[in-house]
Amino acid sequence: MIIQAPRIPAPGQTVLGGRFSTAAGGKGANQAVAAARAGAQVTLVARVGDDAFGRQALSGFERDHIDTRFVVRDEQAPSGVASIIVDDHGQNAITVAPGANANLSPRDVARAAKAISAADAVLLQLEIPLDTVRAAIEIACEQNVRVILNPAPACVLPDEMLRGVDVLTPNEIEAGMLTGSEVGDEAADAARAAVLLRGRGAGTVIVTLGPRGVIVEGPDHGGHIGAFAVEAVDTTAAGDVFNGALAVALAEGRSLPDACRWACAAAALSVQCLGAQPSAPTREAIERFLADRS
Ligand code: ADP
Repeated sequence: MIIQAPRIPAPGQTVLGGRFSTAAGGKGANQAVAAARAGAQVTLVARVGDDAFGRQALSGFERDHIDTRFVVRDEQAPSGVASIIVDDHGQNAITVAPGANANLSPRDVARAAKAISAADAVLLQLEIPLDTVRAAIEIACEQNVRVILNPAPACVLPDEMLRGVDVLTPNEIEAGMLTGSEVGDEAADAARAAVLLRGRGAGTVIVTLGPRGVIVEGPDHGGHIGAFAVEAVDTTAAGDVFNGALAVALAEGRSLPDACRWACAAAALSVQCLGAQPSAPTREAIERFLADRS
């Protein structure tokens, strides 16, 4: 729920704002939509509340042909929401109420075990309990299914969890939180963090650097892959679109540098449009964008 206001209110203050709007969001939901538009058959494991927001989310997933068999309608908790205030300078203040997301349990994941074992990739984020993420990693590892973890929002993770991750995709802030030392603007900083995280167990590490692209550190490939130069209008969810598209590209068997380039193209398209889910591009749009630049 987004309100535009001249300024972000101080504690105790009321500010008369401007436009109010709502937009579908949440990292898991955004990444599922991005992957579906990029051409994957997506099965989402999630929880929504038994309320209007939950129903709205479900019908959005269905419009994008996402399998919602494992999206539980939680009768105890409302749908997760974020209250966002955006001021005249584009600064924002965000409060997230996780709601039903906090109830997504290892048991919910176990119910989807068959779908997980049939998948080419499992894509995870951290807006659900860590034990649930761990359960998904365990099932995927047992079944030899590729695990991609976008460690967002920033959090400290045990090495034992990193060892089950094939591809870890932090941004600079998350890489800093995971390694315990700030990742600055230098690509060398991000590369150092990636090497460290590989040393702690992650198979491949991709640090996303906004308009500067990504640093990749894998068993057979390492280096920098540039972003595409575009006029950015709204970079919200650039990372989500990147991750959704990356999962599709890796699941299709593209090489690591190719998959990163494909995901950078998807993200570059997304930053040129407003909104999180509305900006996720279709597979055709990604292919056209790349063809125009080859
Ligand atoms: P997050 O949204 O998680 O912070 P980033 O900002 O690092 O993630 O963005 C993810 C990817 O999106 C980048 O690696 C890049 O490929 C693409 N991207 C982000 N911002 C821009 C931009 N201004 N121009 C072009 N591509 C961008």
